[in-house]
Amino acid sequence: MTTDTRDLVIPAGHARMWRMRAGQRVSIAQTEGHQVGDFIAFNAADLTEFLSPSHTRRCIHRYLVGKGHTLYTNHREPIVEIVEDTIGVHDILAAACDPYRYRRDFGVENHRSCRMNFVEALAEHGVPDWRVPDPVNLFQNSPVLPDGTYASAASLAKAGDYVTLLARMDLIAACSACPQDLAPTNGGRLSDLVVRLDAPAAAR
Ligand SMILES: [Zn+2]
Repeated sequence: MTTDTRDLVIPAGHARMWRMRAGQRVSIAQTEGHQVGDFIAFNAADLTEFLSPSHTRRCIHRYLVGKGHTLYTNHREPIVEIVEDTIGVHDILAAACDPYRYRRDFGVENHRSCRMNFVEALAEHGVPDWRVPDPVNLFQNSPVLPDGTYASAASLAKAGDYVTLLARMDLIAACSACPQDLAPTNGGRLSDLVVRLDAPAAAR
């Protein structure tokens, strides 16, 4: 099959949106490393159906995900499948960072956040901040420890690490290169992510 590809750069601290057809694959890759990418997705035909970490946890009986795992919507339908994963450490427990996080925990006003990044990136769909679904935090290293606590550590991802997702329905996706620079999450330095969407010629 003839395919072409196109790259979309997500600037450090910002988010971008794209569309996918069922059967398309997208790779989200590190540039410099240690950069978390919060990922959300909606059913393109019905934005009230979206990728849901809580439903995914129940559907696959896991709170850690990696290659081979399917992620589910709030209607308990498969929406994406992780088909390649060079890092294997992601998070499906944490909320997106938001203005409350920076204000409450760091005393900082007007810091960029993944939640507001998604509002910006999804502006054409008019998604208000309270409707942004909880994300799948690609490359995020937040291990659950044996005593039941939940750590916040630097991403283990190195330059060139990537995750490839297969769309299981027509969807609208967005990814935020997390702007968290006040906690270890992104290794102390924000960097760009690169989105490579494989587009079957028949789908164009
Ligand atoms: Zn964030």
